[in-house]
Amino acid sequence: MVLVLLTVLRFSIEKTDTRARLGRLVLPHGTVCTPCFMPVGTQGSVKTLTPAEVVESGAEIIVCNTYHLYLRPGYKRVQAAGGLAKFIGWSRPILTDSGGFQVYSLAALTRVTDEGAEFQSHVDGSRHLFTPELVVEIQEALGSDIAMCLDECPPYSVSRPVAEAAVARTSLWAERCSRARQPDTNLFGIVQGATYADLRETSAKSLVALDLPGYAIGGLCLGEASDVTYDMVGRVVPLLPVDRPRYLMGAGYPEDIIAAVRLGIDMFDCVLPTRNGRTGTAFTSAGRVAIRNSRYADDPAMLDLMCDCYTCRGFTRAYLRHLFVVGEALGPKLLTLHNVRFYQRLMQNIRAAVERGAFDRWSSEFLDRYRPGAEPAGNESDR
Ligand SMILES: [Zn+2]
Repeated sequence: MVLVLLTVLRFSIEKTDTRARLGRLVLPHGTVCTPCFMPVGTQGSVKTLTPAEVVESGAEIIVCNTYHLYLRPGYKRVQAAGGLAKFIGWSRPILTDSGGFQVYSLAALTRVTDEGAEFQSHVDGSRHLFTPELVVEIQEALGSDIAMCLDECPPYSVSRPVAEAAVARTSLWAERCSRARQPDTNLFGIVQGATYADLRETSAKSLVALDLPGYAIGGLCLGEASDVTYDMVGRVVPLLPVDRPRYLMGAGYPEDIIAAVRLGIDMFDCVLPTRNGRTGTAFTSAGRVAIRNSRYADDPAMLDLMCDCYTCRGFTRAYLRHLFVVGEALGPKLLTLHNVRFYQRLMQNIRAAVERGAFDRWSSEFLDRYRPGAEPAGNESDR
């Protein structure tokens, strides 16, 4: 039997520019430069892309989903197949979420007690109980480079008593996850507290006391106003240990990533680049482009002249629009390919700017060109 020794993560800060940090995160399956964006491979696949294409985009780590993989194909089956990385043909690091978020958002949640979260599968209605110990066991069986604690993740708009109870339970569960883990499991705690600043602080302090390898901020970027998001992140970050990676879960708009890097966040994930790619929205250096728009019907320009991806090297907006209009599978694929590369290039540019000590100047230049939420106005064919 070959014994594979996994190392606990090593994280080093190479450079800081005010609170923005350039770091290196060394994990069992490879090294990740931070700030990083992790494409989401919910079911063990970054939708429409091959692992080689994800690697080519520059992504050094992806996120997979414990809840989904637990239900199908089942974590013991993945373990028997040699672990998740081998099963999905991905040779770089993988972070798995704990399933807490999906239990609250996707499954029919039947009961939450201190013991765990009982839910009904969205696939076949079968009943399951996620305990802190089980989600650690699942993630260890999958062979995750980074495992997440089970957390209680209520909607951001909950009442104070509900948020308070979720914080208490999240701390209790984190302690149990920490006790249950193998010494070499890179377990991250998840700070909760909805939009109550003092609860966020309580949550951060109790998790930091567990001395975990990294920390995430959860329960944000779910529809609350962005100044509220930034306020919460800004209060939590100073309470987290300087020498551990910090992960803002679910932050996906370029403007939010930039704001969070400025507050000292190192890791991001979101379904936006892949989901929007499949539904026809591209992120470009000028803002978002809804490719089905009839204004692109005769547009001979590439999607984004500042992009070096395969899509932007060879396909016009007019053709991309055509693919979506007629429902060809190549359309979602080409837009996803572009979006995933756009996010990796965004992070590469952020890291280069921090390295030069020019993050502020770079981000204001980027945001001058990039119009959040809006399509570029007028005919873009001369771009
Ligand atoms: Zn592109």
